Amino acid sequence: MTDIILLGPPGAGKGTQAQRLVARRGMVQLSTGDMLREARTSGTAMGRTVAAVMDRGDLVTDEIVIGLIEENLQSGKGGGFIFDGFPRTLAQADALGALLERSGRRLDAVIEMQVDDAALVKRIAGRFTCGDCGEVYHDDTRPTARPGICDKCGSANLQRRADDNAESLKIRLMEYYKKTAPLIGYYYAKGVLHPVDGLAAVDDVAKSIADVLDRPRAT
Ligand code: ADP
Ligand code: AMP
Repeated sequence: MTDIILLGPPGAGKGTQAQRLVARRGMVQLSTGDMLREARTSGTAMGRTVAAVMDRGDLVTDEIVIGLIEENLQSGKGGGFIFDGFPRTLAQADALGALLERSGRRLDAVIEMQVDDAALVKRIAGRFTCGDCGEVYHDDTRPTARPGICDKCGSANLQRRADDNAESLKIRLMEYYKKTAPLIGYYYAKGVLHPVDGLAAVDDVAKSIADVLDRPRAT
């Protein structure tokens, strides 16, 4: 069973690649960002607590996101988890290690998606998603075939994220460099880090990730 982390700044293409891995390998995507947005939409107390923090571009507390991941790991859902947007701090990384160990699982690879800041700004500015099935699009690089209609599920419910604006992105990038980028060294030291060129075309990034996952690993 392959459990992996997609690690990279906002807009690096984690969600896009996670959706491909789900479709092509039957893996299970665990996106803490999606879980938090869902909590907001369904109006839970936790959703209300995190709303302003997310819109500003700050990280929500470790306790909340670790709790979300723990619930999902306990749900016994599927095998082969893709951790997307988690962990984002060293405390979250330690907690994930402990949770996986407790469930008899192992982290096989951490894919570090390398994308420069100028590209991230363009990606975030043009991103929109389907509010019904979650498919990710971009105004320039991945528009829908029919304007306003999701290619995947036919819904007209296409949305832009409240935090996909220049001001919030500045804070999200700063949070990434201060709190998340140290995880690159953390996972390098554990021998599981695999950098890939996230600036390449979506298919080429997918191929680089597939090469990592299909490489034989020491048991
Ligand atoms: P993340 O989940 O890391 O925040 P997304 O997968 O949502 O990133 O991608 C951010 C935006 O960039 C989306 O609009 C997506 O369509 C676009 N995108 C993703 N990967 C690529 C790529 N390799 N080349 C060009 N655009 C991309
Ligand atoms: P994302 O969808 O991954 O871009 O996350 C959107 C927002 O959700 C982030 O800017 C944070 O406010 C919050 N968030 C998502 N995942 C985490 C995490 N692992 N730790 C803390 N905050 C998170």
